[in-house]
Amino acid sequence: MEYIVTSINGLLNFWVDTAWYIALAMSALVNLLVFFTAAYSVDKLSLWFSKELKSGAYIDTRPLKANQKQREMKYGAISCLIFAVGSLFTRELYSDLWPNTVFNFVWQVLVFSVYYETYSYFVHRLLHTKHFSKYHAVHHWSVRVTPWSAYSVHPVEATLIAISAPIFMAIFPLSLGVAFVLHIMGMVFTITLHSNYQFANGRFSGYMLYHQLHHSRGSVNFGFVNKYWDTLLKTKRCS
Ligand SMILES: [Zn+2]
Ligand SMILES: [Zn+2]
Repeated sequence: MEYIVTSINGLLNFWVDTAWYIALAMSALVNLLVFFTAAYSVDKLSLWFSKELKSGAYIDTRPLKANQKQREMKYGAISCLIFAVGSLFTRELYSDLWPNTVFNFVWQVLVFSVYYETYSYFVHRLLHTKHFSKYHAVHHWSVRVTPWSAYSVHPVEATLIAISAPIFMAIFPLSLGVAFVLHIMGMVFTITLHSNYQFANGRFSGYMLYHQLHHSRGSVNFGFVNKYWDTLLKTKRCS
């Protein structure tokens, strides 16, 4: 554990001091590595769970579109590059490497989570309006989702995701380490959210079903992790 923390610190220290183009290349590499590793793992794991362990099943069983995963991978890779550009702004705006107390750590995670839930809900609703739906159509092209669908979004939508942390950092102090960890966790969560997989015992399945319903039904279930905005604004559907 100590080795992991030391390595992350070393990496972050190097990243903030190095030339912007090296920082950009590093960031692109990390985003691509997390995207391809996590999507590949979740894809294989859900297949293994359903076929070998028989511990659950796919929610939507319609066949995938022709070359669906290849197209999703291509858009996903472009999104990772846009996230890398966005990360350069966090280099300019971060408050410190890590919060100086546990309280500050918890406080930053909490405030950022509430902010991101709100930001993503309203940006998602904006993407469903007349003027923006042509961009969001790239993501909704995937009706039966796969883990690769997670970042299969138009560059405009990827930019809206990429600027979410820099906008927050311009108003509220956020440590670079917290932003980094939350971004990686957010990527893994988004990929899992698009697994279209439901465990037989119902564990964790609520999230996947919730988002698969967004893809199959359209303008419902806009939320990311929490459902409070969907509940409050009556956009929540459970079937
Ligand atoms: Zn949508
Ligand atoms: Zn989606």
